[in-house]
Amino acid sequence: MNLETVTRSSEETRWLGARIGSLLRAGDVVSLSGDLGAGKTVFAKGVAAALDVRDDVVSPTFTLVREYAAPIPFVHIDVYRLDRFQELHDLGFDELMSGTTVTVVEWGDRVSALLPVDRLDVALQFGEADDDRVVSIVPAGNAWAMRCDALVAVLDRDGPELEGEAAR
Ligand code: ADP
Ligand code: MG
Repeated sequence: MNLETVTRSSEETRWLGARIGSLLRAGDVVSLSGDLGAGKTVFAKGVAAALDVRDDVVSPTFTLVREYAAPIPFVHIDVYRLDRFQELHDLGFDELMSGTTVTVVEWGDRVSALLPVDRLDVALQFGEADDDRVVSIVPAGNAWAMRCDALVAVLDRDGPELEGEAAR
């Protein structure tokens, strides 16, 4: 299954991340792909907001991994630099996805071999207008296949900023 939607602003992408974040449970992994500036970090901030992360979520581009305290702790990884494949391997990628956290991996497509089979793959691509992003959401693995209905249900809801702008 491949769910596709278009966001028209960073707020909408953040909201989409939050809607999906509201479904996530301890142990879940979300892999984000898309070019620089596609909105991966914006999406991750939405996920963090849904998890009730209080601290400001900043891009882990230079730190590789950041962990945030929350009822379900949030782990944010960025593997932009390819040499991090080895770094991540050495760190123990499995432990980072220990089953007690929600883990979001930017550029996850670059390390997909290290990711669990059960994960949500989210791809962001630039669309027609400057602020358009085409977001494709693919539930991978059997565990996510069973959660497809829930996924469709949260994606069906209009975002707050869309309400009252039905004409768009
Ligand atoms: P990435 O992490 O993929 O490199 P970021 O999330 O850091 O990208 O940055 C995305 C940039 O694009 C931000 O400056 C954001 O304001 C802008 N932007 C414009 N439209 C959108 C949109 N629809 N979704 C997400 N970001 C958008
Ligand atoms: Mg980023």
